[in-house]
Amino acid sequence: MKKVALKDQSFIPYGQQWIDEEDIQAVNNVLKSAFLTCGPIVDQFEVALAKKVESQFAIAVSSGTAALHLCSLVLDLKPGDKVIVPSITFLATANAVKYMGADVIFADVDTETGLMSYEHYLRAYESGGNDVKAVYYVHLNGQVSDDFVKIAKDAKQKNIFIVEDAAHAIGTKHSIDDDVVKPVGSCAISDLCIFSFHPVKTITMGEGGAITTNNEHYYEKLKTLRHHGMVRDPALFTLKELAFTHEGQPYPWYYEMSEMGFNYRATDIHCALGLSQLKKLDYFVARRQEIVRLYDDAFESLTSLLRPIPKTDLNLTAFHLYPILIDFSALKKNRYQVIQELKNLGIGTQVHYMPLPLHPFYKENYRTSNIPGAMIYYSKVLSLPLYPKMRNDDVLRVIDAVRDVIRT
Ligand SMILES: *Cc1c(COP(=O)(O)O)cnc(C)c1O
Repeated sequence: MKKVALKDQSFIPYGQQWIDEEDIQAVNNVLKSAFLTCGPIVDQFEVALAKKVESQFAIAVSSGTAALHLCSLVLDLKPGDKVIVPSITFLATANAVKYMGADVIFADVDTETGLMSYEHYLRAYESGGNDVKAVYYVHLNGQVSDDFVKIAKDAKQKNIFIVEDAAHAIGTKHSIDDDVVKPVGSCAISDLCIFSFHPVKTITMGEGGAITTNNEHYYEKLKTLRHHGMVRDPALFTLKELAFTHEGQPYPWYYEMSEMGFNYRATDIHCALGLSQLKKLDYFVARRQEIVRLYDDAFESLTSLLRPIPKTDLNLTAFHLYPILIDFSALKKNRYQVIQELKNLGIGTQVHYMPLPLHPFYKENYRTSNIPGAMIYYSKVLSLPLYPKMRNDDVLRVIDAVRDVIRT
């Protein structure tokens, strides 16, 4: 196969946003308007997002990490509480538990999909017992497994909260019962769901995130907590003599704080971008699926050294990443060599993820985590470029480059 010199062609990163003129115009309009933050576009984005994912409420925040932290606050995690987190995920999923002084139980994951199975969940639960307060489930790569439904239903019976980390999965749909299909974020079988809109995710706000829920109490609490814990609704004021005139009118300057909050707001500038991007979600998802099909067709029967990850339901999934599993020992090249050779051919790749219990911060206390499945997944996985702006000839370049590297 002919090798293409890098200088002739642009570098294909593993992921990238797609911003068009409409997005730029939307942001521009906000910059020229009266409100850069706390304005009407935040509400518009939240309403549109809730509608899209079929939840009752959505709250826009400054990042996916802030969204996870707010979920931990709403669930009132305390030292001594334990939360089950899959060992293959981004740092933020587990950190959101540690922010509260609560403890993480790292669950093992499937060697092929990287997803936490029902068995893994049960094993993690057994090790935590009555202290297990929540499960932070991750829809890795955008895929939702049937086991998630089993886990959510079991958790409900056990009075354990279910939070979906759907940073990878905006746009994915999945069946909940035989004939009920719901978008991720509907919270039909979970308490809370979070999204990230970092530029590498399926739609972007620059930096940003959101939480969806059907619980009105959580919704009100989340809005207060993202805004310093400030309460401005006179009906909720507790210090009557400070808040109201003798005639019972609330003082216009008055607000009060009963609970410590944060500044985790998303600005109107970011929400304008999010709102504009949300309009393209269906197209982005369809294009991602097209690319996944091209890759799957090319790699499925190419060689026994490499294969795509198994798909839970290709037609319903919004793929955030395109991981392949490589048998590096049989290939007689290590991952570093493969990554370098692909880079020399102009192809960017990334590893998602090193198991969290291996990180120095976690290693100290989680030496005992038994995660053979996660270690196998990690030893084989490599994410190839996947983003909607890729053209078909970019996809073919990636396929050719992978073929070259595998064969030589
Ligand atoms: C990106 C990501 C986050 C964090 O989102 P940010 O918006 O970057 O803070 C959390 N969990 C997972 C699985 C992610 O991929």
